[in-house]
Amino acid sequence: MSVAEQIDYQGLSKEEEAQIFDTIDKWLEREVRPVVKKYDHADEYPHEIVEQMKEMGLFGAIIDQKYGGLGMSAATYSKVVMRITEVWMALTGIFNSHLIMATLVQRFGTEDQKQRFLPRFATGELRGGLGLTEPNAGTDLQSIRTKATKDGENYIIDGSKTWISNGVEGSCFALLTKTDPNIDPAHKGMSFFIVEKGEGFTVSKRLEKLGYKSIDSAELVFQNFKVPSSNLVGQKEGQGFYQAAGGLEIGRINVAARGVGIASAALKDSTRYAQERHTFGKPIAQHQAIQLKLGDMATKTEAARLLVMQAAEAYDKGERCDMEAGMAKYYASEIAVECSLDAMRIHGGYGYSKEFDIERYFRDAPLMCIGEGTNEIQRIIIAKQLVARNPI
Ligand SMILES: Cc1cc2nc3c(=O)[nH]c(=O)nc-3n(C[C@H](O)[C@H](O)[C@H](O)COP(=O)(O)OP(=O)(O)OC[C@H]3O[C@@H](n4cnc5c(N)ncnc54)[C@H](O)[C@@H]3O)c2cc1C
Repeated sequence: MSVAEQIDYQGLSKEEEAQIFDTIDKWLEREVRPVVKKYDHADEYPHEIVEQMKEMGLFGAIIDQKYGGLGMSAATYSKVVMRITEVWMALTGIFNSHLIMATLVQRFGTEDQKQRFLPRFATGELRGGLGLTEPNAGTDLQSIRTKATKDGENYIIDGSKTWISNGVEGSCFALLTKTDPNIDPAHKGMSFFIVEKGEGFTVSKRLEKLGYKSIDSAELVFQNFKVPSSNLVGQKEGQGFYQAAGGLEIGRINVAARGVGIASAALKDSTRYAQERHTFGKPIAQHQAIQLKLGDMATKTEAARLLVMQAAEAYDKGERCDMEAGMAKYYASEIAVECSLDAMRIHGGYGYSKEFDIERYFRDAPLMCIGEGTNEIQRIIIAKQLVARNPI
């Protein structure tokens, strides 16, 4: 069944979309931009801003309206992510991994699971993220060791996860486990559970990072942790690997949109600064070396934007879009890194200063090359699809 058939996207009219963008832009300028540096430099969780995000419905952005969400298409959602990232990338992490969890329930959950979780996800009452990665398994998800063992009406979960976004502040996670650790191939023994914090579920460590500050990344430990069988996503064991692949498509489109957001912010700041800063009697925007950088940055940013929109539109139509999402994620994240570095060069010493935003773009951008499937893996996915779609 295609995505479009499974999800009842109401789709927003152009007017509704414009209204949402206007509200978000005003909120970003009034409430977010003035405090970004304070939170980012202190690596402090922005509780007040998260409350405002709840009120705006961002935690339900792509959840169906019939479950209390805003029912945005992936295309509209991508544009929202680009706008927010232009001001502060880390904020999008607070609702994106949460929305991947919601997407798993929306696409693969039973009606009972949708009714129990989606309305609470949409309001942000229940917030969290996605628990895939383990200390010994990131890219190679089939090697995870977290085990879920059936015990009457429950499963008992033992194991650990690492790098889990929202691990400290969130209370609910889509957790990838092994329900059959011995089956061959290994991916057939994997299952997702929606788990809420409780006895046997501990946050063992908040991880320190180069960038992507303020949002919490954590190690989670599960010891004899009991979860009701009714929380097995789709009520069928062995579907986890396939479900993860489905959930990651929207995650990759989101990461690509974040890449565009960072590149765009770097470009806008640089375009302004290049006209303000004078050397040798003229604005640096009139030096050809700077013009070449601005020309490259603008072209790359627009190309990445088009790739994101192409992937989002394919996703919304229910078409297979792993290649499109992979291309968008790969290209947009690479150019985000390049543009943040070019912006630093254009800003000279000020680009390296904490008084400007450039140093944050530079610290935040590389994560986009790693998260939601590294760029090495994206290129492999693209190549495999290329061959599969063009058989001889
Ligand atoms: C800030 C941050 C937030 C994160 N948030 C989450 C989260 O919320 N939930 C979650 O589950 N995870 C999260 N992650 C984990 C992230 O998804 C993993 O780091 C990522 O998938 C890579 O896994 P790894 O770090 O184990 O690297 P590895 O898998 O060990 O890879 C190491 C290197 O080898 C390459 N490589 C591996 N296999 C192959 C192959 N077959 N062919 C070619 N190259 C290969 C990789 O591309 C990479 O360059 C987060 C990570 C960070 C840094």
